[in-house]
Amino acid sequence: FNVPVAVNEPIKSYEPGSKEREEVLAAYSELFNANTEIPLFINGKEIKTGTTGTVRPPHDHQHSAGTYHIAGKDEVQQAIAAALEARKEWSQMSWENRAGIFLKAAELIAGPYRAKINAATMINQSKTIYQAEIDSACELIDFLRFNVEYMTEIYSEQPESTSGAWNRLEYRPLEGFVYCVTPFNFTAIAGNLPASAALMGNVTVWKPSDHQMLSAKVVMDVFREAGVPDGVINMVNADPVMMTEEVLTHPDFAGIHFTGSTGVFKSIWGQIGANINTYKTYPRIVGETGGKDFIVAHKSAIPQQVATAISRGAFEFQGQKCSAASRAYIPRSMWPEVEKLVRQDCDSFKMGSPEDMSNFITAVIHEGSFDKITSYIDQAKKDSNAEVIIGGNYDKSKGYFIDPTVIVTTDPKYPTMETELFGPVITVYVYEDEDFEATLKLVDSTSEYALTGAVFSQDRYALGTAVKALENCAGNFYLNDKPTGAVVGQQPFGGARASGTNDKAGSKLNLLRWVSPRMIKETF
Ligand code: GLU
Repeated sequence: FNVPVAVNEPIKSYEPGSKEREEVLAAYSELFNANTEIPLFINGKEIKTGTTGTVRPPHDHQHSAGTYHIAGKDEVQQAIAAALEARKEWSQMSWENRAGIFLKAAELIAGPYRAKINAATMINQSKTIYQAEIDSACELIDFLRFNVEYMTEIYSEQPESTSGAWNRLEYRPLEGFVYCVTPFNFTAIAGNLPASAALMGNVTVWKPSDHQMLSAKVVMDVFREAGVPDGVINMVNADPVMMTEEVLTHPDFAGIHFTGSTGVFKSIWGQIGANINTYKTYPRIVGETGGKDFIVAHKSAIPQQVATAISRGAFEFQGQKCSAASRAYIPRSMWPEVEKLVRQDCDSFKMGSPEDMSNFITAVIHEGSFDKITSYIDQAKKDSNAEVIIGGNYDKSKGYFIDPTVIVTTDPKYPTMETELFGPVITVYVYEDEDFEATLKLVDSTSEYALTGAVFSQDRYALGTAVKALENCAGNFYLNDKPTGAVVGQQPFGGARASGTNDKAGSKLNLLRWVSPRMIKETF
């Protein structure tokens, strides 16, 4: 299996005066004012239903950056039918052709589409250019490149054969179609969920988030230009309840590739169970859901490292990552120093629109999210067992802006220690220096989630203790590093408990879910 060796796409710096900065700013202002019309893409055709929603930049919510068309039941059924029709050829296509198409998509994003995909992510999801570059362009390129390599590793795993008998595993795609439901927060995840299933020979019906339609369209344009055949990836926006009902009652539903909220995933799981006699095969259920990700500092930790992990882990992209640090456990002797350093960071963060590249904080995704996050901040201002010590201000008049906020609580089970807010808020519990081991037990018992977590210590014995005590608390566990920013090809990503099925995005483990191998034994 000869394929290009996958390497991580180098991250561009967007320094003032650089060509890449000029290009992305030009793409931003063009796309911001283009009022882009976003159709459904079914069987390679652009479908306009006339029922539309508006793309509103979170940092400027009175502006319309585009309209997206919304499907009814008929279009959802058309998308499923188109996928099943396309399956006939796609499932038989050589792996080299499939690999070539997605490698081409990676090169299109690395080159001609880079500025556009970043600009769309900045406008649509309010990412800064640095977060857009890392989370959208480079991560999607990496997913596409590394998955091709992982695919060939899977295909090369074959049983032993002896002369006279030939054993071979044929890694067929699933029999049916795969439903891909993607979140607003990572353009890369939106592209990867349909692309990874399709790479393995599957056909897909893809429902992007309402809050990511502009960047989803750019991804779809890339797939089409790269040569993904009509019907293999159908992009359909629709009412989620209706669409999921249509998809999950279809006999050819063969799997779901999901990233989103725990509640939605659990309800989908229930619906699949209720419909189990409808399906030809047991559907594959792959989901990455919520997180309540922790930072634990041991008294031997370096305060600057801990503070940076809080500032970056909790506040980059306004904390809208499943992996974002949202609860921290800091020893009493260290807290004054860590607090001072986090405060310095927060004082230096500029807040505003992403097109001003000196801004570090932009807006949260929509009003519902803003209202939820700020209601917890307001409650903490009132509660006697909590105190808002940094930030806590907000303003939604132009965009959904919330200051990076630190709450300190004396109750380790305080609501914001347990509930995922998906915003720029971290809650700190200060523990007595000698209570490290008891604190590890608290970390384990406090959250239903187990996605990411970080432990800081210069004492190897303490690190070892934490690694053991927190064995089931995080699918991605960091020692002396912030809990965000897993890199494809380096740290496969996913969590367990209420955080998902832990099928590790960007790995062989994930791709294995999209094959249904046939074992062939031939005797001579
Ligand atoms: N992979 C991302 C990270 O390590 C998080 C993905 C997500 O938020 O869904 O930060």
